[in-house]
Amino acid sequence: MHVHDHSPGGGSASHSLLPSEPALRVKAIETLLVEKGLIDSAAVDAIVDQFENKIGPKIGAGIVAKAWTDPGFKQALLEDAAKVLADLGISGLGAEQVIAVENTETIHNVVVCTLCSCYPWAILGLPPGWYKSDAYRSRVVREPRKVLAEFGLELPEEIEIRVWDSTSEMRYLVLPRRPKGSDRLNETQLAALVTRDCMIGTALPRL
Ligand code: FE
Repeated sequence: MHVHDHSPGGGSASHSLLPSEPALRVKAIETLLVEKGLIDSAAVDAIVDQFENKIGPKIGAGIVAKAWTDPGFKQALLEDAAKVLADLGISGLGAEQVIAVENTETIHNVVVCTLCSCYPWAILGLPPGWYKSDAYRSRVVREPRKVLAEFGLELPEEIEIRVWDSTSEMRYLVLPRRPKGSDRLNETQLAALVTRDCMIGTALPRL
C-alpha cells in the first residue's frame, strides 16, 4: 500500500478499510453538531489547519533555524533538547521527552511510532494522517529507503538511514541540514524553509 496519501480522511475508495472507530465517532459527533447549528465545519477545518500546518510546525522550524545560525544553541539542543525547550518556555504536549537527532553528510534520520502515534506535539503540532497509518508505521522500519522515495526523497545509497521509533517517553525532532546557498538568509527566512516533514525526516529543506 502506498503510504503518502493526502486525501481527506486519509483514504479513498480504493482503500477498502473503513476509517478507524474513533474517526467514525468524531465524524458522527461533528455531523450532529453541524446539523444542530452548534459549529460550522469550515471553522473546524480552519482550526485543524492551524494546528496541523501553522502553530505547531512553526515552533519546531524556529528551533531548527536557530540551531543553524547559533552553534552553541545547536550543541545544547543535541545534548538535551528537553532542557532547551524548557528554557524557551515550551512545556507540556511531550516537550519534556524531545530528543533531537541531526542529519549529516552521511546520516539521514526519520521518525516513526511503530506502536501508535507518539509525536512531539509541542513543537510540531498535530501529526499528519499518514504518520498514524499502519502502512507508514510498519513499512518505514523495514524498507525506509523505499518509503522515503515514495515521499519524493531519493537518498544516495551511501547515506545511512536511521529510523527512530518513538514512545511516550521519547519523541524525536530531526534537525535537518541547512540547505546549500542559504548563507544570506536570516533566521526568519531560514525557518520558512523548514517544513513539518523535514522535522519528521520524510523531506529535506529546499531553497
Ligand atoms: Fe505512539
